[in-house]
Amino acid sequence: MMIIMRTTATRNQIDEVVKIVQANGLRAHLSTGEERTIIGAIGDGRPVQKEQFFHLPGVDRVVPISRPYKLASREFSPANSIFNLDGIQIGGENIVIIAGPCSVECRSQLMEVAEAVREAGAQALRGGAYKPRTSPYSFQGLGETALEILAEARQATGLPIVTEVMAIEQIPLLIRYADVLQIGARNMQNYSLLHAVGESQHPVLLKRGMSATVEELLMAAEYILSHGNRRVILCERGIRTFETATRNTTDINAIPVLKSMTHLPVLLDPSHSTGYWEYVTAIARAGVAAGADGLLVEVHPDPAAAYSDGGQSLKPERFAELVRQIRGVAQAVGRSVAPVVKVNNNGQTHGSR
Ligand code: PEP
Ligand code: MN
Repeated sequence: MMIIMRTTATRNQIDEVVKIVQANGLRAHLSTGEERTIIGAIGDGRPVQKEQFFHLPGVDRVVPISRPYKLASREFSPANSIFNLDGIQIGGENIVIIAGPCSVECRSQLMEVAEAVREAGAQALRGGAYKPRTSPYSFQGLGETALEILAEARQATGLPIVTEVMAIEQIPLLIRYADVLQIGARNMQNYSLLHAVGESQHPVLLKRGMSATVEELLMAAEYILSHGNRRVILCERGIRTFETATRNTTDINAIPVLKSMTHLPVLLDPSHSTGYWEYVTAIARAGVAAGADGLLVEVHPDPAAAYSDGGQSLKPERFAELVRQIRGVAQAVGRSVAPVVKVNNNGQTHGSR
């Protein structure tokens, strides 16, 4: 349920309500708006006497959250969640573009692509160190070596790093290097991993499972949010359908649907959702036109030689063209692409973001 405080409620009154929520065995999650505070009181479904909250000082009203996903819902937090990632606003006015190779393959590959995507206008760098591959004989990622290379690219370009976490035991290492932990489609319902990234309090990019409904995606996000980790970014990456002309089917509907159901930022990954570089730019345009807060795009300096997902990776010059086109689409829907990340000689970011 939501305990909606009066606009005049004092800090002490809010604290008192939180204490009583907790004494009932419920977790209290505060949503502090411009005008008033809403306290989400979340339990495990066992009945609670709602009446005990009605008359507490500072309480305006108590209303149930009708959705099964509570903290992720727009009911709990009507305004868009905007959070700051190393100077970049995620979920705000600006479209954020995260780009880079599917896998980190070697230092020169990553440094080349990192420079290229920054110059083209990306705000963050992606690159897999631990790869979830269908075959155990396929390239599995360079592990910690990849993380060291990503750290070097971050230093050189100022771009924050997004990389996938596949197992709980990788978390302590990954949070030393990554600005955002990606949960891949195959792990969207790995509930122990969701609990663990929630506890880590590190920003999370949660990709939709390939056969997950929008509601299941939001329930997965709820696991992370329930640990008080508010920095969750959702990503539509295509779902499995009967269609075989593309790797997956981009569920473009999911973007406005998610934007109406949740306050969390929503990205589109047009690379995995199509599976062919030829379609990536068109679908990226569609995603931004449909209201996505950003894009996750695979870019490789030599796609034909890529260790993974070469067929859906853009060459740097094609990625630059994608960004140019996205600027136009963003403008048409009243938004803009976040400014280019500038670097000074010490590899430190400054200025424009
Ligand atoms: C990836 O981003 O490279 C990836 C493996 O994506 P997904 O989990 O969406 O398949
Ligand atoms: Mn990939």
